[in-house]
Amino acid sequence: MLLVVLVPLKSAQAEDHPLALIDFSGSDAAEFYTSLDGEWFYFEEQLLQPTEVYSFILRDYARTVQLPSSFKEQGGISNTYGTYATRVKIPRALVGRTLAIHIPHQYSAYKLYADLIEIASNGRVGSSAEEHESELSPKLGYFVPRTDELLLTIQISNFEHQRGGFEHSIFIGEASEVAQKFNTSIIWMLFVVGCIFIMGMFMILFAWFRRQEKLFLIFGLFCICFAIRAFFADPFFYSLTLLQVSYLWGTRLEYLFTHATVLLLVFLVYEWYKQQFSKQVLKLITFSITAAIVTTLITKPIVFQRMAEYLFCFAVLGFVYLVYVIYRGYREQHIRNFANIVGLTLVSIGLFNDFMLAHGWIKSVSLSLLAVGLYVVIQVFMMSKSYADKVLETEQLNQSLTTLNATLDDQVNRRTKELRSANEQLEHLASKDALTGIYNRHRFNAFMQKAFQQAKENCTPLSLIMLDLDEFKKYNDNYGHIQGDALLKQVVKLIGEQLPENSLFARFGGEEFVVVLPACPLAEAYQLAEQMRSAVEFARLPHAKRELGYATISIGVAALEHKSLYRSEIELMDAADQQLYRSKREGRNRTSVARLKQEQPSLL
Ligand code: GH3
Ligand code: MG
Ligand code: MG
Repeated sequence: MLLVVLVPLKSAQAEDHPLALIDFSGSDAAEFYTSLDGEWFYFEEQLLQPTEVYSFILRDYARTVQLPSSFKEQGGISNTYGTYATRVKIPRALVGRTLAIHIPHQYSAYKLYADLIEIASNGRVGSSAEEHESELSPKLGYFVPRTDELLLTIQISNFEHQRGGFEHSIFIGEASEVAQKFNTSIIWMLFVVGCIFIMGMFMILFAWFRRQEKLFLIFGLFCICFAIRAFFADPFFYSLTLLQVSYLWGTRLEYLFTHATVLLLVFLVYEWYKQQFSKQVLKLITFSITAAIVTTLITKPIVFQRMAEYLFCFAVLGFVYLVYVIYRGYREQHIRNFANIVGLTLVSIGLFNDFMLAHGWIKSVSLSLLAVGLYVVIQVFMMSKSYADKVLETEQLNQSLTTLNATLDDQVNRRTKELRSANEQLEHLASKDALTGIYNRHRFNAFMQKAFQQAKENCTPLSLIMLDLDEFKKYNDNYGHIQGDALLKQVVKLIGEQLPENSLFARFGGEEFVVVLPACPLAEAYQLAEQMRSAVEFARLPHAKRELGYATISIGVAALEHKSLYRSEIELMDAADQQLYRSKREGRNRTSVARLKQEQPSLL
């Protein structure tokens, strides 16, 4: 902060000469803050020191103008230089207090003197393009007046910008009042710009993770571009922070991001209202703006600023088309996107207004930041609502899915149980003989194979008994098949009662049966076979066609013991079967036993 104490400047002649005067002597000193709009002397193409001002006035070299106004309004050209000066009368109570002058950006270089002292400057003032250097920073200059009247002198030049002169009001006031107003405006603008930037980041990341949301990507890019543009546009925050960015690049970036922002706005409207937006128009706009971007990159400000002006005539048509598309979209897509339509319209109007303002064609305030800020708020509202709705919907869906899953699980469990027990039943049925209820041939085969293998592996004995009803054909012939079935059942019952627990009793086929006896040596098996045979014999089941007059059975027994060399269960079965035939041959109602098979296998 440059704080200077003023030395009063007086000239004897000046007392009698009518000098331009802005008089605030009657203002309230307590809240003194006011613009310095009013009558100023203008010395065209003269860069005067404050000390020279009075003599120039006396020599009648001066004319008066109303500030703020552009060089163009004063002399018809924008690229020139000169000096402005005026007297200011301040409230007497402020003499000796610290005052400040706030100069928002000007599109020119300038030096501001309060009486003799320079209190603020921007860029380099010069009388030619070579000596001159523009800068766009807003400035604050502090000073302490010694009397209630001071002379303000401004040297100013412009050779680089399309516009030039003291075009924006400057303000004088009590130092803290001025500083507070200056800071408040900056903080608010940066806050809004920051919010828009963050929203843009969010949208871009959201689009990135979702992969499908082109609309969000464009909206995000639009926000980011706009936020960066705001940094380089009026009031040129970049000049307060990025000191190494020159006027040339600052201005170039402002225009580049303005073009990009407008292009993204067009894309955004296109994405929203594809059906209403002509592809040809989109191509034309894209081509024009891309050309403008390239020109901005490779030419000087004075060229690309002029080009932007020409482009604006075309842009007016573009904006009218955008509004038309939005209107048609509204009519055809109904109330659904009402908030969006309001937002897009606001942004279009804001950008349009700012463009006109930047070229000095209208006197208004900058609107685009406010409009985009509002649009972002609208989007945030719409997005959070739709997100909340979707989350709620998903939660409800999840809930019903969980319930459905639970019932489905229950059903599946119940069905599986039913199926399992049906399977067990089926398996049971499939392994049983329908007539006698004992195991069938199929089950016997499986059991026999396993038992033989285990016996071999564990070197344990395994015995097999085969038995057959004697002269059963005659029984059938005599009593009929139904009675024959009944006899079969009775015999099975009698035999079953003799069996140990770990044995397997099965119907081999017809009236032949087998008993498998794991861990049972041949001698025990023989005893058991005899018990079975006796049980049937002693039951005295009538059989009129037998000599004995009752039914009997014949039995063959074979066993695998550790010395035996039956190579498979088939050989063992064959051995038992042969013994059964032997019993038949030798007169029936008897038990024959295969001798243990030794190293030299031989059957008896
Ligand atoms: P052997 O003493 O030599 O065994 O004479 P067998 O008559 O008992 O022998 P054979 O093989 O000549 O006859 C067996 C008979 O068993 C023939 C068939 O009618 C009868 N049979 C086979 N299965 C059944 C059945 O499920 N029910 C009835 N009732 N008879 C059956
Ligand atoms: Mg028989
Ligand atoms: Mg038989």
